[in-house]
Amino acid sequence: MKKVVAKIYTDQDANLDKIKNKKIAVLGYGSQGRAWALNLRDSGLNVTVGLEREGNSWKQAEKDGFKPVHTEEAVKNADIVIFLVPDMVQRYVYLEKVKPYLKEGMDLVFAHGFNIHYRLIEPPKNVDVYMVAPKGPGPTVRDFYTKGGGVPSLIAVHQDYSGEAKEKALAIAKGIGSTRAGVIETTFKEETETDLFGEQTTLVGGVMELMRSAFKTLVDLGYQPEVAYFETINEMKMIVDIIYDKGFSGMLKAVSDTAKYGGLTSGKYEINEDVRKRMLEIAEKIRSGKFAEEWIEEYGRGSPTIKEGMEEVENSLEEQTGRRLKELIERGKPKS
Ligand code: NDP
Ligand code: MG
Repeated sequence: MKKVVAKIYTDQDANLDKIKNKKIAVLGYGSQGRAWALNLRDSGLNVTVGLEREGNSWKQAEKDGFKPVHTEEAVKNADIVIFLVPDMVQRYVYLEKVKPYLKEGMDLVFAHGFNIHYRLIEPPKNVDVYMVAPKGPGPTVRDFYTKGGGVPSLIAVHQDYSGEAKEKALAIAKGIGSTRAGVIETTFKEETETDLFGEQTTLVGGVMELMRSAFKTLVDLGYQPEVAYFETINEMKMIVDIIYDKGFSGMLKAVSDTAKYGGLTSGKYEINEDVRKRMLEIAEKIRSGKFAEEWIEEYGRGSPTIKEGMEEVENSLEEQTGRRLKELIERGKPKS
């Protein structure tokens, strides 16, 4: 395994002056859009929210004290355009509402490398293209910032026309609070491929299916669904919280010796070479662009696989059991 030590950028490495007098258009006001617009504004920057339609986001932005405008209006006046609409929408927004108004020296900023890396968006040479990718959900980006903290981010430069793209990426990262924690430099390729791999193999896909498979195994063996739910799904939160705070060794120290012995032996038996072979296949599908192709096709057909998958999960025994236990679980949560 290659050993590399990444440089970590913090507050003193980033200068808000780099973008202080620039007009920033935040396109989209959803999970990340709302957090970025609010944090950048609270950091003293000049933010306009640009939206495609006068829907829920529009109302929310108004409630938060912005005067949202239609996308092209925001772009026409902007120096920095930040793409915070869904990845599958960005290409259309770029082609229809951004490209016609591009000016030399403008900045195009992304929170995920998908559209640039897979060449769905191909900007002209005379603009800066960079990324600030928060490693957490939008509401957390906002919540940590208002409490004086910040969610770490990755930054990357795809195109450096001005010669200052990296400084500006760091300034944006500071504006959303990320340099209070730390920022690491990456490439669009690395961020895109690792982000997709992480969400598929662990965060979204792997962890969920691991829990569901364990639940199903117990229920098939005749154990009560409620008991299975506690053991294979509900307790995950407590274990992950300890890993988050104290790492794997901290978690191992917090569980019983019996759990430690069983975990250290059975875990490796369960997640074996076969599983890693599949992980490699998943990585290959991402790296070759095949996953991107498949997802674009799915989106073009109205996302039937997502709809079907969501329905299957919602109707599953584990979800029904979880809903039934919700009241009990809520009752037990600490009262702050
Ligand atoms: P959201 O799905 O939350 O974006 C919703 C926003 O986009 C809303 O303002 C919505 O407006 C608008 N929108 C939705 N559909 C359309 C459409 N068809 N046409 C025009 N506007 C539309 O996006 P995220 O915040 O999740 O993602 C934004 C970017 O951030 C992505 O590149 C993503 O990969 C990246 N990212 C996301 C993270 C996350 O935690 N969510 C983490 C790190 C990066 P309306 O209300 O009018 O529908
Ligand atoms: Mg992702």
